[in-house]
Amino acid sequence: MERDDGEHAHGPTDVLVVGGGVAGLTAATFTARAGLDTLVVNDGESILNRNAHVENFPGFPAGVNSRLFGDLLAEQADRNDVRRREGRVADVERVEEDGETGVRFVASVEADGTVETVRTRFVVAASWSDADYLDGLNATTRDAGSKRYVDVDERGRTSVEGVYAAGRLTEKYHQAVVSAGHGAEVGLTVVHDSDVSYYHDWVAPEGYFTDRGREVPPGCEEIDAEERKRREAESREVMTEFFADPHEEPQRTHPSLVEDERGRLDE
Ligand SMILES: Cc1cc2nc3c(=O)[nH]c(=O)nc-3n(C[C@H](O)[C@H](O)[C@H](O)COP(=O)(O)OP(=O)(O)OC[C@H]3O[C@@H](n4cnc5c(N)ncnc54)[C@H](O)[C@@H]3O)c2cc1C
Repeated sequence: MERDDGEHAHGPTDVLVVGGGVAGLTAATFTARAGLDTLVVNDGESILNRNAHVENFPGFPAGVNSRLFGDLLAEQADRNDVRRREGRVADVERVEEDGETGVRFVASVEADGTVETVRTRFVVAASWSDADYLDGLNATTRDAGSKRYVDVDERGRTSVEGVYAAGRLTEKYHQAVVSAGHGAEVGLTVVHDSDVSYYHDWVAPEGYFTDRGREVPPGCEEIDAEERKRREAESREVMTEFFADPHEEPQRTHPSLVEDERGRLDE
C-alpha cells in the first residue's frame, strides 16, 4: 500500500495511543483530561472481549459483561475528548522535531485500503500483542516464545525518548485492572514529561483548596453542590442506560475454535 502524506495526513497531535483496549483507553483518558490532544488508533478488538464475565475488576461487585466494559471505557474516553479511529499502526518513524508543534514521530496507519499518516509528539504503545511497528525505532523488546514484550522503565518509558508502552505488551500481569492501572500511570508519565502544568487529576468539593487560601492546583477542579448533584444525576442516568439491556455483541472464544475470524459464538 502507498503511504499518503497529503489528503490523508492527520495531526499534528500531542499523543498517539496505539491500541484501544483496556490500557490504551485508560492512558488516553488521562492524557486528554490533562489537556493533551489525544488520538487512539485501534485495530481489531481487546482480548478482554473473549472473557465470559469480568468478576475481578474493582467497582463491579456482581461482575460485568466484558464487551459492555469495553463500551464503558470508550464512552469515558469520548466524554473526555479523546479522538478515536479504527486502523492498524504499521510503522512509526522518528522525524526531525518541529519547533512549533513538537512533532517528533510519524506513524503509518493502514485503514480502508490506504496508508494514512499521523504526526505526533508522543507515542503510547498499548497494542497487545503487536510491537512490530516499533522496529524502525529500535525500541528494546523481548521475545518469549510466540509473544513479544516491550521493555519499559518503572514509569512506562521505552528505550526511545518520547515512546511509552502500557498494559500486557509490557509483560504486566494478564489482568484488566493491572492494564488499566498501568495505562493510567503511563498516561500520567506522558503528562509529566510534557509541558503541561500539572498537580493531580482531582475533582474536589467547593472550597477544598480556596477556603484554605490556596489556588486550585493545575489539573484539579473544585465544584459546588449544584454541579456535584448535576454530575451525579448524569452518571446515574448514563449507567442505567448502559446496564438496561443485555449486551448485543456475541460472546467470543478463541478464534481457532470457531469458523469466525473474531471468535464469535452462535448463541
Ligand atoms: C479468555 C480470556 C479471559 C480473560 N478474563 C479476564 C478476567 O476475567 N479478568 C481480567 O482481569 N482479565 C481477563 N483477561 C485478560 C485481559 O483481557 C487482559 O489482561 C487485558 O485486556 C490486557 O489489556 P491491554 O490493554 O494490554 O490489551 P487489550 O485489551 O487486548 O488491548 C489491545 C488493543 O490493541 C489493538 N491492537 C493490536 N495491535 C494494534 C496495531 N498495530 N494498531 C492498532 N491497534 C492494535 C488490539 O486489537 C486491542 O484492541 C482475559 C483474557 C482472555 C483471553
